[in-house]
Amino acid sequence: MGVRLIIMGPPGVGKGTQGELLAERFGIPRLSTGDMIRAALKAGTRLGERVRVYYEAGDLVPDEVVLGLIAEAFDGPEAACGFLLDGFPRTVAQADGLAELLTARAIGLDAVLSLEAPEQELVERISGRRVCEACGLVTHVRLVGDASPCPACGASLVQRSDDRAETVRNRLSVYREQTEPLLAYYASSETGLTAVDGLGSPEAVRDRLLETLRCAEAAG
Ligand code: AMP
Repeated sequence: MGVRLIIMGPPGVGKGTQGELLAERFGIPRLSTGDMIRAALKAGTRLGERVRVYYEAGDLVPDEVVLGLIAEAFDGPEAACGFLLDGFPRTVAQADGLAELLTARAIGLDAVLSLEAPEQELVERISGRRVCEACGLVTHVRLVGDASPCPACGASLVQRSDDRAETVRNRLSVYREQTEPLLAYYASSETGLTAVDGLGSPEAVRDRLLETLRCAEAAG
């Protein structure tokens, strides 16, 4: 029986990195709406063209678009035995839509995790984030310097188009206005919400998350 998790938190808090570590640990797919959107943009699909303007501005794409992407993923074979949702839901309407998708499939959530870090740290992490154009590795100028190639495959490292300073400020305010209300939404839900400190090395944060899940399982 697989595990079904949501990992929430502001841009730059480490949802992607931690989501990957947890998904690997539990043998479940990480369903990232941000990754799905970037794949559509790169492939130049109709969906990609429809959402480009929102993405480039750091605004949320329409709820029905991401709900469609998640519904499709739920119905694929990959997510049959559990999943980790990363970057979804981001609005109350998306959370309501997710609840309907889960009810229709007679499944529930095991935990909703909220990663936290101070705003200054988020800005610093996002502005130094670099992504490999070829293999998708995500790293930071703190680790690799400003002009080096990808340490994994040697291709070029680039900044995500929505990681530029002017877009980052908008993404943070979009988070505060549209996504933060979901913390109270899940805190008062049957599953509850577990806040976890996102500061420290990726391994330290991962261990904190795993410990939290172990405790939640013991309590449940
Ligand atoms: P992320 O990679 O999760 O930081 O998402 C990057 C961008 O993709 C966001 O700034 C939005 O433009 C879009 N996006 C990703 N997930 C969602 C979502 N659940 N709802 C609306 N827009 C999203």
